[in-house]
Amino acid sequence: MTDPINAAPPVSEAIALKVQYQTRRRNWRGQLSISTVRAVDGVDLRVEQGEALALVGESGCGKSTLGRALLRLEQVSEGAVRFSGKDLTGLDQSLLRPLRRNMQMVFQDPFSSLNPRMKIGETLAEPLLVHGLATRAEARARVAEMLEIVGLDPAVANRHPHAFSGGQRQRIAIARAVIARPSFVVADEPISALDISVQAQILDLFEDLKERFALTYLFISHDLAVVRHIADRVAVMYLGRIVEEGSPETVFGNPVHPYTQALLAAVPSPDPVRERNRPEPVLRGEPPSPASRIVGCRFRGRCAHAMPICATSDPALARVGDNKHSAACFLHHHEARQQQAALP
Ligand code: SF4
Repeated sequence: MTDPINAAPPVSEAIALKVQYQTRRRNWRGQLSISTVRAVDGVDLRVEQGEALALVGESGCGKSTLGRALLRLEQVSEGAVRFSGKDLTGLDQSLLRPLRRNMQMVFQDPFSSLNPRMKIGETLAEPLLVHGLATRAEARARVAEMLEIVGLDPAVANRHPHAFSGGQRQRIAIARAVIARPSFVVADEPISALDISVQAQILDLFEDLKERFALTYLFISHDLAVVRHIADRVAVMYLGRIVEEGSPETVFGNPVHPYTQALLAAVPSPDPVRERNRPEPVLRGEPPSPASRIVGCRFRGRCAHAMPICATSDPALARVGDNKHSAACFLHHHEARQQQAALP
C-alpha cells in the first residue's frame, strides 16, 4: 500500500539494480579468460525528495558505480533506475540529455573535473546555454551570482582553473553542478582530495546549497565522520549490495550488521585514551573479488558471527526494529534465527 505521506515518487530510485562488466585476461600461455565483475549486484534504494542520503562502504564496494548508474552514466545490466518516477533504464543519450540539467554529479578530483582550457565563466555558463535556460547576457549575470553564492569573487570568471587552489576548484565544480538548478546531485567523495583545513568549509557549502536550492543529495563517502555531518539517512554498501540502512542516529548508534559494526569500530577516536584502548581491528581480511561466484552471505568470510545458514542462503535487506532501519543479516531475520535454533 502507498504511504500517503510519501505519495510523491522518490527523486531517484534503484530497483533490483545490477551493473556488470566483462573483463578479459590472458594467462602466460596466451589463453583468454572472460569473467563478469558484479559491481552492483541487486540494489533497491530510494532517495527521497529533499534528503541527503549518504552511501558508505570500503573502497571498491560499488558505491561510485551505483551513484553513476542512478544518473545513467553507467549502463544498467539488470533491474531499473528511475528519476522522479520516470524510468531511465532503456533511454539512449539523446533522450537522457534534456534530463541531465536536473541530475548532476560532483566528482572527487576538482583538478580533472574542470576543462583547463575554458575560463571559469565559460565553464559555468555552459549548462545554461546548452539547455537553453539563459541568453549570453543572462548567463553572465547568473555566473556572477553563482560565484558569489559559492564564496568566490565574480571577477574570477575571467580566469582559468590552474589559477585556483583545490578547495576553490571544488567550489567552482559545485557551482557548475548546481547553476542550472538541478533537483538531484550525486557527490562522489567530494572532499576526500582536499586539505583537511578546507573540508569542513566545503561540507558547509553543500549544506547551504541544499537549503537554498531545495536539493536532494546522494553523498558517497568512505569517511563516516563526514557522513555524520551531512546525512539525513545512511546506506552501508558491501560488495555490490546494501547491507544496512537507516537514520544516522540508528546506524551509528545501534548498528546491527556485523560489517557496519566493524566499520564503526575501525574509526579512530579523537580521545587519546579511548584510541589507546580501541580493540584490534575486527574487520579481518579482504572482501572477495566482485568477479567471484558468491553463494550465501557475501560477508561470511569476514564475519565472526557466521552460522551454517550463512553459507547457503543470501540474506535479504529486511526491517529491523522500527520501519526506517533495515539490515541484510540472518542474525536479525526472525525465521532464520528459529531455523538455527532448531538445528541439532
Ligand atoms: Fe554474518 Fe551471517 Fe549476518 Fe552474514 S548473515 S553478516 S555471515 S551473521
